[in-house]
Amino acid sequence: MQVFDLVQVTDAPAAIAAGAASPTAQQGASVRFLAGGTTLVDLMKLNVEYPDRVVDINRLGLDGVATLANGDLSVGATARNSDLAHHPQVRERYAALSQAILAGASTQLRNAATTAGNLLQRTRCMYFRDTASACNKRKPGSGCPAIAGTNRMLAILGTSDACIAAHPSDMAVAMMAYDAIVHVQGTSGARQIPLSDFYVPPGNRPDIETVLRPGDLVTHVTLPAPLAGERSAYLKLRDRASYEFALVSAAVAVTLADDKIASARFALGGVGTRPWRVRDAEGALAGQAPSDTVFRAAADICLQGARPQGQNGFKVELAKRCIVHAFKQVTR
Ligand SMILES: Cc1cc2nc3c(=O)[nH]c(=O)nc-3n(C[C@H](O)[C@H](O)[C@H](O)COP(=O)(O)OP(=O)(O)OC[C@H]3O[C@@H](n4cnc5c(N)ncnc54)[C@H](O)[C@@H]3O)c2cc1C
Ligand code: SF4
Repeated sequence: MQVFDLVQVTDAPAAIAAGAASPTAQQGASVRFLAGGTTLVDLMKLNVEYPDRVVDINRLGLDGVATLANGDLSVGATARNSDLAHHPQVRERYAALSQAILAGASTQLRNAATTAGNLLQRTRCMYFRDTASACNKRKPGSGCPAIAGTNRMLAILGTSDACIAAHPSDMAVAMMAYDAIVHVQGTSGARQIPLSDFYVPPGNRPDIETVLRPGDLVTHVTLPAPLAGERSAYLKLRDRASYEFALVSAAVAVTLADDKIASARFALGGVGTRPWRVRDAEGALAGQAPSDTVFRAAADICLQGARPQGQNGFKVELAKRCIVHAFKQVTR
């Protein structure tokens, strides 16, 4: 691990000023914010991340979870994943979010991990984490051994010829389905970024993962109030029952009226280079009576354009079945 300065800050402007000294907020950043450290410290030990300066943001008072006057939920950037998952408002109004968080990692990790850190966790592609391998995400232009190599866990949607890394977060999938907004403070003031615009497709620069700029501090995330009577669930399919990343997952939310689907929203994990949401697929469900056939038709639309590699073709069918099964759970 490279030698670095650890800086303690107690206010957001100091954190932003410290972060702004980095030429980039993407791979290779020379300044990184430290939240729970469960991604960052691992990657520093592996020399995948090598900041000169690490800014501890745990004393900024950004750990609150509260329902706002307009009914939206505000989730602080350093709220611990465990606290969020077990928050009574989250369990009652955003069941898929609570379930998604509890389906990830382990109790100990969730006790340390934070909201913003979870959204900004890095891919588990084995080549990315191994500095002896080429990897366009870690070292732009060096190549992507995963495309012809070990890619069973990797993405089939949103990929490019330069990178097929899957986004690993469970929490982000549920937040995508709930139309989350990421609130950022930076050197030019505050911005609100829909989560659907937060992640950048890999294209030919997979080292650039988000729209964040140097100094940008995620302060909190808001979730709009759920629709009246909305039911939601998170279904995660993986190689073992716990402590494992998703092969495929689905966060689904639905309202019913007169035994028909009045509204549906859903997002997939494990298959995309970012949490994957297709509005046309949701539109195909509106006004229909719930059935396997209807859910399957929406799943077919969602998986259009899938580009499997040598080992992960099974994810196409698995994702479709995951969508169907998750919707059956919330409509039965
Ligand atoms: C063994 C293991 C198993 C896991 N399994 C799963 C799983 O099944 N599902 C899953 O979803 N996740 C899983 N994880 C990942 C885990 O959820 C993440 O490591 C965790 O959520 C990251 O949060 P953190 O607060 O520790 O982030 P940190 O490591 O502190 O930070 C991560 C990144 O976010 C940046 N950052 C943090 N806060 C801010 C902020 N406020 N503004 C701007 N940038 C910020 C940091 O600079 C860093 O670049 C697993 C991790 C491990 C180690
Ligand atoms: S898939 Fe992406 S992260 Fe994995 S080796 Fe290729 S470029 Fe690197």
